[in-house]
Amino acid sequence: MALKGSLVVISGFSGVGKGTVIRHMMETHEGYAYSVSATTRQMREGEQDGVDYFFISEEEFTRMIRDHELIEYTNYCDNFYGTPKKFVRRMLEQGKDVILEIETQGANLIRRQFPDALLMFIMPPSGEELLNRLNGRGSETKRVIRQRMQRAAREAECIDDYDYVFINDKVEECADQIHSLIISQKARTDRNFEQISKVRREISEYLKGE
Ligand code: 5GP
Repeated sequence: MALKGSLVVISGFSGVGKGTVIRHMMETHEGYAYSVSATTRQMREGEQDGVDYFFISEEEFTRMIRDHELIEYTNYCDNFYGTPKKFVRRMLEQGKDVILEIETQGANLIRRQFPDALLMFIMPPSGEELLNRLNGRGSETKRVIRQRMQRAAREAECIDDYDYVFINDKVEECADQIHSLIISQKARTDRNFEQISKVRREISEYLKGE
């Protein structure tokens, strides 16, 4: 069956606020489905199982890999994260635009499997602001913050692989920019072959019957 919705990968350094941007975009526009990832990391305060992540054990994660239940997975700062396959397939078939909030290695694996996927990277206004946001979260130790800044430095090297970059200065603006881009992609000629062929056919039928 042809996949109708778009696959949208949204990456950004830990602490950049991509979760807030995505939430805002989904609250203000219809037609999106958020892919809830599986992870082996500890639940943070305020997070909900099945909403933010499926929080599972390493054994369960290993089983999901073995049974080919994940489209992609990675190890990020000593924890596993992966995208469950079934939900993504089902939503795409229903015509939803599926949002994958994943890191750069996962984005790369998605691009190889879904060449039409849109890869977007959200940047902070500055490095200093990124550090402020990570500190402001209050849920991470100094060691974890340093680990995440080191990871950000590595991820910054991968931004060139993305199709678009956005700066998250104001959440609403950033969310609107991303949404507009997703919508404009739908107007691409190569995504509208069926409609183009249909109208061509109808015009030629009209001319034949004249
Ligand atoms: P956090 O622990 O801050 O929630 O997430 C850490 C990183 O893992 C973030 O960059 C997030 O985008 C990424 N991530 C979350 N879920 C997945 C996933 O399913 N696959 C991959 N490759 N990365 C993920």
